[in-house]
Amino acid sequence: MTLPDVVATVPALRERVASWRGRGERIALVPTMGALHEGHLALVRRGRREADRVVVSIFVNPKQFAPSEDFAKYPRAAERDRALLEGLADLVFSPAPEVMYPAGFCATVSIAGPSAGFEGALRPGHFDGVATVVSKLFIQVAPDVAIFGEKDWQQLQVVRRMVRDLDLPLAVIGHPIVRDEQGLALSSRNAYFSEEQLAVARRLNGILRETVAGLGAGDWPAKLAAARQAVAAAGLGPVDYLAVVDGETMEPRDEPSGRPARLVAAIRLGPVRLLDNMPVPG
Ligand code: AMP
Repeated sequence: MTLPDVVATVPALRERVASWRGRGERIALVPTMGALHEGHLALVRRGRREADRVVVSIFVNPKQFAPSEDFAKYPRAAERDRALLEGLADLVFSPAPEVMYPAGFCATVSIAGPSAGFEGALRPGHFDGVATVVSKLFIQVAPDVAIFGEKDWQQLQVVRRMVRDLDLPLAVIGHPIVRDEQGLALSSRNAYFSEEQLAVARRLNGILRETVAGLGAGDWPAKLAAARQAVAAAGLGPVDYLAVVDGETMEPRDEPSGRPARLVAAIRLGPVRLLDNMPVPG
């Protein structure tokens, strides 16, 4: 097993990718902010199945954090991340902020539509930051496929819309959420929880499962109201949102529309906003 090489500049990245391309190899990109866990590693394994080479980008993107958010204290673990990628990734692209955003940088990629509402409303500028950095990564790496987690459902829809609207020549693959044994969606920010908070956080999954099971019988507003009550009773909360949306456009839905729907939730617990989502059957 070999540790993946790490490159920090765009020319070094492009040189490596060009050598693979020259041999006709397919390339997958897995964009991350590091502090890797099994959820990220599942995306990397998926990348290996979809392509010959996997590039993992590790970049804590300042543009997707609001000034009030945790950019400075977001967990960073470069050596550990590299060790976790041993035998899985071919290359780690880990640019410094000034490589991504040189002095005078003033470009913004803004995708309306699925960015509106939910995370977009609660975190102004967040999806512009995501779309800007992801489009740069797509141009820098020029992958055949990019793998994103369904964990960040709205982000996945924003990226899909961006790729479609801008005719970017790659396929976007959404990979299912990886959870711990008790159903909690893995997240780098779970590291902020105390043991007690972790135990409470693990109750969310069961509440969402019960909720989606109940949605099949109709009366979505009542089912969502009951879910909010269950969240409060479990010691979780406040609820930033707990809603059913169109699975692609992110428009809120209060009844079946014949299109795929998704239950999306963001619940605050101590220092963390817990994000989770599930498909609504039917
Ligand atoms: P992040 O490092 O949090 O920006 O996440 C990088 C990628 O990993 C994103 O596409 C996330 O959706 C994905 N991801 C994070 N946590 C999970 C998880 N528990 N299951 C699946 N994908 C995940």
